[in-house]
Amino acid sequence: MRPLYCHLSIACTLSVGCTEQSPQLPPVQVSGTLLSYAADEDIEICPATIPYLEQWMIAIADKLGIPEHELTPTTYYLVDQATSQELCEGGDLSIHCADHVDGQVNVYAYHPMNRHELVHAVTAGTKVGPPFLEEGLATLLDDGVPVDLMPSIDAEDLDDLIELQDPRDQLDVYGVAAYILYWVAQRHGLEALAQLRFAVEAPTSAAAFRAAFEATLGESLDEMLAEVEGQPGCQLVTCIGEPTPWVDGQWTTYSPTGCEGGAIGVRQPEGDHILRHAIVEIAETGIYEISTPSHGVFLDACEQPCSFNHSFGLSVGSHDYPLAAGRYRVETWSAGPGQPTYDVQIRLAE
Ligand SMILES: [Zn+2]
Repeated sequence: MRPLYCHLSIACTLSVGCTEQSPQLPPVQVSGTLLSYAADEDIEICPATIPYLEQWMIAIADKLGIPEHELTPTTYYLVDQATSQELCEGGDLSIHCADHVDGQVNVYAYHPMNRHELVHAVTAGTKVGPPFLEEGLATLLDDGVPVDLMPSIDAEDLDDLIELQDPRDQLDVYGVAAYILYWVAQRHGLEALAQLRFAVEAPTSAAAFRAAFEATLGESLDEMLAEVEGQPGCQLVTCIGEPTPWVDGQWTTYSPTGCEGGAIGVRQPEGDHILRHAIVEIAETGIYEISTPSHGVFLDACEQPCSFNHSFGLSVGSHDYPLAAGRYRVETWSAGPGQPTYDVQIRLAE
């Protein structure tokens, strides 16, 4: 089952997490300037993880017009699925959550680097919009778990989703809202997306949301949806770090085998969750041959449209791909302890 996400602001007096039966939380293992990471002692956190996630959160804040000094200190609790479900009051749903209490955000998650909840952590200290906007943004900016954003949107259902108070009641809200916000960003830019977020009060009526949409963006929601109908949307990728140089017409990255070389993630008894992000600069638009001997390699455009994204994985072997000029993120995964590293190569096709 695909992990579900939820954002809750749990009042401490109401939370099961505050009773005497509350689950034991793991200790904080690493503290950065913005983000701390708590995990059981038999879990190793790769040293590059916290600096990477902090840079990522600051970059997300920048995209949303939130100054760095307004970010809320965040502790990421990596817990098991049952604990996450309990702390997040998920009921039957396996969820993660970001809990904002007293100037501190606690993320409870069973995924080691859940970027959906880190988006909530980034926006927590600002005026928080209705679930439609907050969940849409968190889904749109989560570049860790790909979600297919091409929903069919029924007008009446859409108004229900806009007015939704609890995202757990209608899980469609994540994909539908992210799809709409993707197109807002494409047509009007990220700055307009941030303006829209600040223009909508929570809770909102569908009519008030639609009025704010039109006043902020200069087109109505229905007009925009009619124009983009049938076109896909995708999550926006936030690229961190400088490009790896090309050598003699070829660009190469290698998969991690452990925490070395800037790899991020955790080593845990139930299996490593370690990946490396390398940035490739494509100087000219063209057809490129990409070779990978392994599954689990993902290529995503840092700024260009969705059509260049392969968030669902590149094919094994050598294949040609059309790429527009610009930067891309290449994600490779560790196959586990003792497993060999592999190279991924890119060159201009002949
Ligand atoms: Zn959420």
